[in-house]
Formats: sequence, structure tokens, C-alpha cells
Amino acid sequence: MLKSHSEQIGRRLFVFVMIIVLSILCISIPLVISHYREYQKSQTALIEIENLRAVAALANRISRERGPANMAMSSSQEEFEKNKQALIEYRAGVDEQIKVSIHRLDQSGYDGLEEYVAQYLNPKLAEGRKQVDHYISLPFAERTPEALDQAILTMFNAWDSSHDLLKKLVMQSKSKDSSMGHYYTMILVLADLRDQAGRVASNVTAHVTFQQPLPSDNIARALQTQKQVRYLWDLVNTIQPERHRTAEFARLHQEVKTQFIDQGLPIIMRLIDESRKGQPYFLSGTELSVAVSGKFLTVIDLQDYLLNKSVEIAKSEKDANQLNFLLTLIVSLISLLAALFTMIYVQRKVISPLIMVRDKLVELSYANALVDSNFIEDQQKQVHSLHEAMQKLQKMLHQRDEFEFELKNIANTDKLTGVSNRFALEAYTKLMEAQPNKFTQTCLMIVDIDYFKQVNDQYGHVAGDQVIQQVANCLSHNVRSTDLVVRFGGDEFLVLIENLDLEHGLRAAEKMRKGIGDLQFTDEQGQSFTVSISVGVAVGADSWKALFAKADQALFRAKAQGRNSVSS
Ligand code: GH3
Ligand code: MG
Repeated sequence: MLKSHSEQIGRRLFVFVMIIVLSILCISIPLVISHYREYQKSQTALIEIENLRAVAALANRISRERGPANMAMSSSQEEFEKNKQALIEYRAGVDEQIKVSIHRLDQSGYDGLEEYVAQYLNPKLAEGRKQVDHYISLPFAERTPEALDQAILTMFNAWDSSHDLLKKLVMQSKSKDSSMGHYYTMILVLADLRDQAGRVASNVTAHVTFQQPLPSDNIARALQTQKQVRYLWDLVNTIQPERHRTAEFARLHQEVKTQFIDQGLPIIMRLIDESRKGQPYFLSGTELSVAVSGKFLTVIDLQDYLLNKSVEIAKSEKDANQLNFLLTLIVSLISLLAALFTMIYVQRKVISPLIMVRDKLVELSYANALVDSNFIEDQQKQVHSLHEAMQKLQKMLHQRDEFEFELKNIANTDKLTGVSNRFALEAYTKLMEAQPNKFTQTCLMIVDIDYFKQVNDQYGHVAGDQVIQQVANCLSHNVRSTDLVVRFGGDEFLVLIENLDLEHGLRAAEKMRKGIGDLQFTDEQGQSFTVSISVGVAVGADSWKALFAKADQALFRAKAQGRNSVSS
């Protein structure tokens, strides 16, 4: 069965829109996925940076435990209990921080960090604390700078493992290669710088406390640490990208330079110098701790600033990527909806009305035909486009015109002979009368068959009809197609020729008379016979009526002359 054309158009439109929808999907799905991945990456980067901040804070806390530890170890007898208590409280804070950080890392899905803390960091810290506790448990008289130095060094080891924890965290980070990568490096470098800065003083603290000369090993370590600090400081300058050098960064950076590098380090150099010269130290151990720790704070401030800044940047990157992802998703959905809406709109507002117009055209093309609605429906199914429907209607209209023309012709034509009848003559004369002087040059002939009644009587009506037909034929053959031959009635014909003078008119009439006289007829019994005609010819008159009267009189004369003749 033929599918209706509207169904076909609907299906084609559906396929077309599906292609558009698929194209949109082909473009938007990878875009949405890639933006979603970018968003996920930045979210991961944010979590990682926040974790890094937490672990850096932990490493700092462990590093700073050396402060209260040194205070307790180098304090005078009067201040000992107070400093010891401060150390105990500080340690409790560090332990709590370790717990919180590990819990946090655990939740973020880092592998093996908890074991690392249990196996390395905690034992190293415990070892450092044991040495410190051992030292402070010694009676003052039994304390030596070597024992104090030993306790300080073991505390360094504890920090080393917290620094390793930070490195492990960076190694496991998925976003260390992203745009946030340099922040990871910066956090590591600053953590290192912060610790080295702490060591600068710690290397001389023990002997300054005891007011004893520094052993060469301690001097070497102190100088090495200073070199390390300057190296790390240069590194900070190098790796911080220009675009992230904010005014606050510049200010904090300058603080470290002035306070720590330019003022803090020379204190140590002065102590080393005093030791080398065998001079008394210008500071006691406790004074040294107080003087230098203030300078260290600038390094911590810079580190804190960069940690917070990196979290802030990671957050804004995450927000921007989230916005990108949502925008891509929304634009894709809008495009899809627009395509579907267009399909529905085109179907309803364009295709359906066009199909309706097509169906109406087909219906119109059959409006005159007596056909049932099923037939029209069948036709509608076979017509595939508006253009076809219009062609069909055009064809139908053309056929109708032809039919009308034929009808008109039938009305204007004599049935028996096929020449024009009186209606045609009337129309013709009316047309001519509308034009001035039209009849002055018109030739009218009235042709009448002689003794036609006798023909009918003698040879029968069938033969009579044949005679009428042949005479009409002969008359038509002797004039041009533009001339008018009319069967005026019974056996009487009119021949109208425009622009013909009398002489030529008479000659033409003569020719007709002769031609008809030569015709041979046979009746039903096989009897052959001939006929003759009489012709009245008139040329020029003021009106049709006058012209006709002239020709009629001429015919009368022709008949009167004995028939088979032409008269004017
Ligand atoms: P005339 O020479 O004076 O013309 O004599 P006529 O016998 O021809 O007389 P008229 O012209 O008056 O006669 C016409 C006859 O033609 C009368 C009628 O019977 C006959 N006729 C008229 N129409 C037809 C027709 O359609 N077929 C036939 N067979 N005869 C017709
Ligand atoms: Mg006659």
C-alpha cells in the first residue's frame, strides 16, 4: 500500500531533525565530558591543595615544637617548670593536629599515609621527645652542650619525617602537573625554607646556652644551613610566576628579606664570630631563641599566605570550570530543545498547511468530476508534492477549457454538415456591425440547392442528407479557412468573404456552382444522380440586413433565370 505523502514528509523531517540532533550530540557530548573532567580535575586540585595546607601546617607545628622544647631545655631553674608545662601543652596540640590530619587524608583516599605516620613520623617524634625529656630530666649540673645538641638533632629527624610526609602527599597528588603545579613546589620549598631557617639558630643554641665555644662541626652545620636558606630563598623568587606576585606577596617577601635574611642571619654570624674569637656571646640561649623566632615568623607568614592563596586560586579555578561545565551543558540542552522545537514548529506551521494546500488542490482538480471521496483520497496519496498537485490542477483546468471550447463549437456548428450554423453567423455579424463600414467590401453569397424537394422525394432523405453534406463540403473547399460558410436552413447556405470585389465574387460562385454540378451521388437503390445550385452574389452594403437583402434578390434572379446559375 502506498504511504500517504504527509507521512513521508513527516518521516523525512524526523530523519532530518534526528541528523541535526545527532550532530549536536556529537559536538556537545565530548565538550560536556571534557568540561566535566576539567571541573572534576579542579575539584580534585582544590581538595589536594587543602590537604597539602593541612599537612604543611602539621609539618610546621612539628617543626615549631623545637621552639618550646629548646625553651624548656635551655631555661633557667626558675623558669623551668613554666617552660616544661608549655612544652607539654604544645605537644598535646601537635598530637591532636596529627590525628586530625591523618583522619582528613584517610577520607581523601590517600594510600599508605596512615601507615607512614604510624611507622616513621610517630616513632621519630617519640624519639626526639624522649631525648628532650631525657635532657630536661637531668640535674642542671649534669647537663652538657653535647647532650642538648643531641636532643635538638633528634627533633630535626622528627621534622624530616613530617617533611617526607608532605613530599609523599605531593607525589600522590593527581593535579601536581596541572596549572596548580607550581604551588605544590612552592609549598614544599617554603616548608623546607621554614625548617632550614629554624635550624640556623638550633645549630648554635646548645653551646650559646652553655656559653661555650662552638665545635667546628656545629659551625659547619650552621654555615651549611645558612647557604641552604639563601638557596631556597632564591628558588622562591624564581618559581613564583609573575602573575601571582600580588602586592601582599611582595610585602611578605620583603619582610622575609629584611627581617630574616638581612637581620636574622647576621645574629648567627655574629655568634659564630664571637665563638671563633673566644669572646662572650652577646645573647643567652633563651634570648637567642626569642630573638630568632620572631624573624622566623616572617617565613611562616609568607608560607601561610601562599598556602591560602593557592587554595583561593584552586577554588576560583574550580568555580570557573564548574561554570564552564554547566554552561556547556545548558547550551547543549538548549540546542537540542531548539532542534526539537523547530521540528514540531515546522511540522505544524509549514508542512501540515502545505499538505493541506496540496490536498485541496487535488480536490479542486476533481471538483467538476463526479467522483467519490475515496477516489480523491487515492489521488491524494499518489500526488507527492505541492508542485505535482499544481500541475495536476493545471492539467485538469486545461482539459476543462478544451471541453468548454468543444461545447461552444458544437453550439456554433451545424450537426449534419459541420459548417457554421445561424448562432455563429449571428455572432459574426454582430462583431462586424460593431466595426464601421465593414460590410462595404464584404461579399455575401446565398447558395440554394435546386429542386431539392424532388431529390428527397426521388432518392430518399438519406441521399438528400448526403447531398447537403457534399454541397457544404464543396463550398468549404472553395473558400479560405478564414471565410465563413453557414448552413442557413434546409438546403440553403451562406458564404461570407471579406475584402472581395463583385467580379471575383462571381468568379468564385461560378467555380462553386461548377464544382457541385460535377458531384456524383448514389441513392440506396444504387441509382446515380447529380444536383445543381443557384447562387445570389452581393458585394458591399451599409448593413448586414441590406447586404443580405441584396444577395437574396440576386438568388431570386438566379432561380428565375432557370436555376443552375449565378446572379448578382
Ligand atoms: P427550389 O429550386 O425553388 O429551391 O425548389 P426546392 O424544391 O429546393 O424548394 P425549397 O428550397 O423551398 O425546398 C427545400 C426542401 O428541403 C424542403 C425540405 O423538405 C428539404 N429539407 C430541408 N431540410 C432538409 C434536411 O435536413 N434533409 C433533407 N433530406 N431534406 C431537407
Ligand atoms: Mg431549394
